[in-house]
Amino acid sequence: YWSHVPAAPPDSILGIASLYRKDPEKNKLNLSVGAYRDDHGNPTVLRVVRKVEQEPASDHEYIPMAGIPSFCQAAAELILGGKAKSIIEKRVVTVQSLSGTGALRVGAEFLYQFYHPTATTEKPHVYIPRPSWGNHRKVFQSAGLKVAEYRYFDSSTCDVDGKGLIEDLKNIPCHSIIVLHACAHNPTGADPSEELWKQILQVVIQKHHLVFFDSAYQGFASGDLEKDAFAVRMFEQSGIEMLVAQSFAKNMGLYGERVGALSFVCKDSSVVSCVQSQLETIIRSMYSSPPANGARIASRILNDPVLLGEWKQELLEMSGRIQEMRKMLYEELVSRKTPGNWSHITKQIGMFSFTGLNVEQVRYLREKYHIYMTEDGRASMAGLSRETVSMFADGIHDAVVQ
Ligand code: PMP
Repeated sequence: YWSHVPAAPPDSILGIASLYRKDPEKNKLNLSVGAYRDDHGNPTVLRVVRKVEQEPASDHEYIPMAGIPSFCQAAAELILGGKAKSIIEKRVVTVQSLSGTGALRVGAEFLYQFYHPTATTEKPHVYIPRPSWGNHRKVFQSAGLKVAEYRYFDSSTCDVDGKGLIEDLKNIPCHSIIVLHACAHNPTGADPSEELWKQILQVVIQKHHLVFFDSAYQGFASGDLEKDAFAVRMFEQSGIEMLVAQSFAKNMGLYGERVGALSFVCKDSSVVSCVQSQLETIIRSMYSSPPANGARIASRILNDPVLLGEWKQELLEMSGRIQEMRKMLYEELVSRKTPGNWSHITKQIGMFSFTGLNVEQVRYLREKYHIYMTEDGRASMAGLSRETVSMFADGIHDAVVQ
């Protein structure tokens, strides 16, 4: 039956990780995958997570299709703010999801089935930033939606192309679906300024676009959960309808547990029960109900003031270490007089830096130095340590001058 099936192209990120695993070199360095590592390059389990894991699970029964209610409520409050008008007015529907990817996928499915803003037959397209997280396109296309891009990044300044972005959002059809990275844009590490966020909101309102926020790094960018929710909260306060996907993979280090949430901020509480019931129908046919363990851990942390405080402290430690790595890398390049301006390395935020290295330079680093990063020049700053940062700077210097 399957002889006609062609091999699928490897995932651009996971494909590099697999090359890394196959490399026999001892002093190799993996900067391709977005997972936090400690200063010795090891995976980290948060102390607060370890603590909650000591508590015995009550049972292993199924949890509801929409997930654990106390988790869903706390997740919505975390991103929208506990005093958000939409929450107080009971206009928010939140379902637990299979991490951020699952939230996007269930949201995409719902949009495919129910988002018909105009009488025309042409369905609105989903606009993602150029560049964006590699999986965005596939997730929305799998749900049957058409995906296009808006300008986001200016490679000459290694910063957000604010003018291009606003122009594109103005020129695309009204009622388009706009995917916005809530903070710590992946892969560029470049976020809109507060002023630019305000302009984006204005265009969204003028053009009646539907915003789908993707929040995969709350608390991981600045170390401050509130600050990292700034854009989402400003949009919520404007009263528009929107969707928000949340991941607890990075900020709680619960990568493999698949803990996430999908929230619909609706105009009116009267639509809430129907939206919730359709989301449950989608979930039922996809995977019936979400996993319990990770969401139980997250719910304990989010709903207990002491544990919450401990989590915030660890977020500061993780984001602080990443910022230190950025500073060290920048200084190492400056001290080597590596040609080019490297100030974007410390200016960019979150887990990644878009180094500006081109594909040949990335390959050179891989072949000569056994340093692995994605071919678009993205490097995980969280994968660097005090011991490896000079090796990376040596590699970059050599790749740039050769
Ligand atoms: N969105 C963005 C922008 C991401 O970077 C990621 C993680 N790489 C995700 C969503 C989803 O990740 P996960 O499904 O592991 O939560």
